[in-house]
Amino acid sequence: MQPMETISTVAGLRARVREWKQAGARVGVVPTMGALHAGHLSLVQAARARMDRGITTVFVNPIQFDNADDLATYPRTLAEDGRMLARSGVDVLYAPTAAEMYPPGFATRITVAGVSTGLCGGSRPGHFDGVATVVCKLFMQTLADCAFFGEKDFQQVQVIRRMVADLNLPIEIVSCPTMREADGLALSSRNRRLTAAQRQTAVALPRVLAACAQDIAAGTGVAAALSGAADHLAAAGFDSVDYVELRAETDLRPLATLLPGTPARLLAAAWLGDVRLIDGMPVPPRG
Ligand code: AMP
Repeated sequence: MQPMETISTVAGLRARVREWKQAGARVGVVPTMGALHAGHLSLVQAARARMDRGITTVFVNPIQFDNADDLATYPRTLAEDGRMLARSGVDVLYAPTAAEMYPPGFATRITVAGVSTGLCGGSRPGHFDGVATVVCKLFMQTLADCAFFGEKDFQQVQVIRRMVADLNLPIEIVSCPTMREADGLALSSRNRRLTAAQRQTAVALPRVLAACAQDIAAGTGVAAALSGAADHLAAAGFDSVDYVELRAETDLRPLATLLPGTPARLLAAAWLGDVRLIDGMPVPPRG
């Protein structure tokens, strides 16, 4: 196995990928914002299993943050990320600077209508424009054949799938299941900002969602189940609840009831202090 290479320029990345492609290799990319954990590494492993060459990108994308404090406090652990990725068999860690990504005069935004509205798009104005723009740039920079994303950010995956279809981007999108702590909390870079007490409260998010999904599958009315779940999160100690919603998995349209043949997913976001956590779960079909 070749040692991992760290590249920070588009030109350097393009040169390496050109060599790989000339040798007939299929290239996978895992876009991340760093502060890596086992959830990210599961995407890296999925890419390794399917592709000849793997790139992981680490870039804290300023244009997807609607809140300056969130951007400033987002954990940055590039040296440790590099060690984890090298051990995971990644070929290239691509870590561009903000100036490389957004040189003076940069003026383009990609807006994906429909699936980006509501949910996290409702609570974080402009967030998915920033995500779609940077992901499209990463696709163009890496020229990867396949990109790997986590279902934890379920709306994000749908935004990216829509963008790829609409813009005929020649890349396949693979989504991977959410990796969780032993108690059920979804792994997230933001978890490391929780106090010990907040960390204890945080586990209510997957627990309440799992119970809500079971209730809906068992026939409880959707509206009552969703508002009950929001109440349970508040009672457990969440400071505020952005949303708890039931959506169709394919196009994220709101569902007032389970529909036969329409896979449904419960999606939620809630705050502990200044840390915003998200999670989601499929709702089993009735019966
Ligand atoms: P982030 O660094 O938070 O932007 O995430 C980078 C990628 O890792 C995204 O595709 C996320 O959906 C994915 N990811 C984050 N947390 C998890 C997790 N717990 N399990 C699986 N994938 C995850």
